[in-house]
Amino acid sequence: MPTPIIQDLLTLSHEIGREDRGLAILGEGNTSVRLSDETFAVKASGTCLGNLKEEDTVECRFSALLPLLEKESLTDQEIDNALLASRVDPRAKKPSVEAIFHAWLLTLPGIKFVGHAHATAVNQVLCSPLARLFAAHRMFPDEIVCCSVASVLVPYTDPGLKLAQAIRQKTAAYIKKLARQPRVILIQNHGTITLGASWQAVLTAMLMAEKAAKVFVGAAVLGGPVFLSGKNVERIAGRPDEAYRQRALKM
Ligand SMILES: [Zn+2]
Repeated sequence: MPTPIIQDLLTLSHEIGREDRGLAILGEGNTSVRLSDETFAVKASGTCLGNLKEEDTVECRFSALLPLLEKESLTDQEIDNALLASRVDPRAKKPSVEAIFHAWLLTLPGIKFVGHAHATAVNQVLCSPLARLFAAHRMFPDEIVCCSVASVLVPYTDPGLKLAQAIRQKTAAYIKKLARQPRVILIQNHGTITLGASWQAVLTAMLMAEKAAKVFVGAAVLGGPVFLSGKNVERIAGRPDEAYRQRALKM
């Protein structure tokens, strides 16, 4: 039987991997959870979120992966070696190459779970010239409650070390500018990352980002979108009843 925390990771994975949701199919996407100050568990490379099992997760050491972020460049072989060396159990499967950005995001204060998907509607926007507008604006109140006041936008970057470095740079700039943690990170021509204190928060942000992308595409067809004003966005973000709803959603 998996431990309760690994069971939470499997539940999150199965929810993101549900085929009817169009968030991740086949081997797409990955998930992770912080287990302690020293280690985290992440989906193994090549496994499927929709039916992820305990043996498809790998416990990795932060101390083996975080220093990679300081390297100018590494060969694919050096990255592979570092991923394999980060495993607590050498018999475990190979961690996803995206384990490097999971490791860094899991060091942010209050972040315990991270999810990543190649969501269909979000990717419609991220593969269009309008990605920046989608990341910077909000269209309806629930989008603010579940996805915060704006999303981090990361330009397309080679998956692996370069992508992890770009995510770190753009996320740190967002936190500095907005003085809050992001709930959603968007990678152009690639997909969605959501992060939170619970698996429910990660799933909620993932589902709402996908819904917002559908609304965005539909509104664009009709000559929009019409965005909420900055004042209205801040008002919703600061309302006590919305904070209550966030707690109810385990956000
Ligand atoms: Zn990906």
